[in-house]
Amino acid sequence: MMEKNEKNPYGWNFDNSYARLPETFFSKLSPMPVILPKLVILNLSLSEELGLYPKALQKDGGVAVFAGNKLPEGSEPLAQAYAGHQYGYFNMLGDGRVLLLGEQITPEGKRVDIQLKGSGPTPYSRGGDGRAALGPMLREYLISEAMYALGIPTTRSLAVVTTGEAVIREAKLPGAVLTRVAASHIRVATFQYAAHWGTLNELKSLADYTIKRHFKGVLDFPNPYLHLLKEVVKSQAALIAKWQLVGFIHGVMNTDNMAISGETIDYGPCAFMDTYDPGTVFSSIDTRGRYAYGNQPKIGEWNLYRFAETLLPLLHEKEEEAVGIAQNAVTEYTKLYTENWITGMRTKLGLITKEVQDKSLIEELLDLMKKYEADYTNTFVALTFHNCAGTPLFDSTEFSDWYKQWQTRLNSQNEPEAAVRKLMMDSNPAVIPRNHRVEEALKAAVDDGDYSVMNRFLKVLATPYAHTIIQAEYAKLPEKPSCPYKTFCGT
Ligand code: AMP
Ligand code: MG
Repeated sequence: MMEKNEKNPYGWNFDNSYARLPETFFSKLSPMPVILPKLVILNLSLSEELGLYPKALQKDGGVAVFAGNKLPEGSEPLAQAYAGHQYGYFNMLGDGRVLLLGEQITPEGKRVDIQLKGSGPTPYSRGGDGRAALGPMLREYLISEAMYALGIPTTRSLAVVTTGEAVIREAKLPGAVLTRVAASHIRVATFQYAAHWGTLNELKSLADYTIKRHFKGVLDFPNPYLHLLKEVVKSQAALIAKWQLVGFIHGVMNTDNMAISGETIDYGPCAFMDTYDPGTVFSSIDTRGRYAYGNQPKIGEWNLYRFAETLLPLLHEKEEEAVGIAQNAVTEYTKLYTENWITGMRTKLGLITKEVQDKSLIEELLDLMKKYEADYTNTFVALTFHNCAGTPLFDSTEFSDWYKQWQTRLNSQNEPEAAVRKLMMDSNPAVIPRNHRVEEALKAAVDDGDYSVMNRFLKVLATPYAHTIIQAEYAKLPEKPSCPYKTFCGT
């Protein structure tokens, strides 16, 4: 563990480039202090990666920062302005309950946002209390860290503190503040805000800032804004394919919850699917299933069109030309998404070589999984270890036929069995944060102050591809199916 430095006891090392954008993009304000901050979880390995000193962070002065009671040196706290489409409808939004403390420059020279979630009201709170409840903040911590370990780009969770204050939701709940770490919090919705309410210069400054922060390579092109769009299309195609491959349902893919950096952001109503069904929806308010598992790839495209619209004035001075350029760039998304998805699915099935018929082999398996209500994650694990028995899917003759086809295909590629097994083990997680296990961990923490269940679970989730005996315990399905399982936004 790194030892504290006398001159800089916590290791904060801020450089706040966002605060130097035009003022229209934020409101400067400080977090609202809380009565009785108590650190309940700290991400030790992430702290060290960021150049922070975990021992000091756990003392009162360190915890006060995570609670919003004290500003770390060099912080210039601000709430970011953004607008966005929520369930297809355009709204003015903005950070209603989060504050950016600043950008930490890590020992490796990486720049990341340090943000407090649940830090009090802001000019963008729209009547909300600006606060967060403990259960949902722990949930974000658990699921974002699980996503990170699965190899999926994501914001991360550094710490959760309880506040000693209650928040009023459907009941009185214990309040908490989460410290979130992100490549940045620039969203599709930040661009929508700039395009809708900003001047052309302000829009340009946001685009230039984004390029400098995330996509420096595009500066080599004659039209960097087009290449900014292409890069964002590319990274979303890769990200959403990764979600689909592990059965992750984001749950609220509004344009304010799509980060330009290509990280997964906003762990509100998200959850992992147990039984394979493209129609799976967990969010309590998504009554029409707009953000169902099977719709995520299409919604990604819809959001990218909204992003492309904001860039039109930068793409070409003639609007008609600009529309054509944008259209061409976003059209690539479906192709890129499909390529990413098929490539990932091939690895899940141990296919090292490429054949045209692979797509139908994959789709046939998924159709059978749906028909026989098979568990998505465990089906792939069973295939990995050739342990296919004892479920309606595995006992069906249709599956036997499919299995033979798959074996023939595997044999045709002439690859050693060990290499195939290794590829499958590395591509099929043994554990995901299953809903019943998440609930169990949160219940122990929130109701009994017992964090041991959550800490054990986090440890297991940290190496999802290890396929150990302990993990087999966490791979078990709930006694009762987890659908209908309800998740919630903004809690
Ligand atoms: P979300 O559903 O988390 O993406 O949030 C949508 C919008 O509601 C964002 O502008 C949030 O900042 C805002 N919001 C969510 N919860 C609260 C709250 N408790 N107080 C104020 N604003 C909130
Ligand atoms: Mg959000």
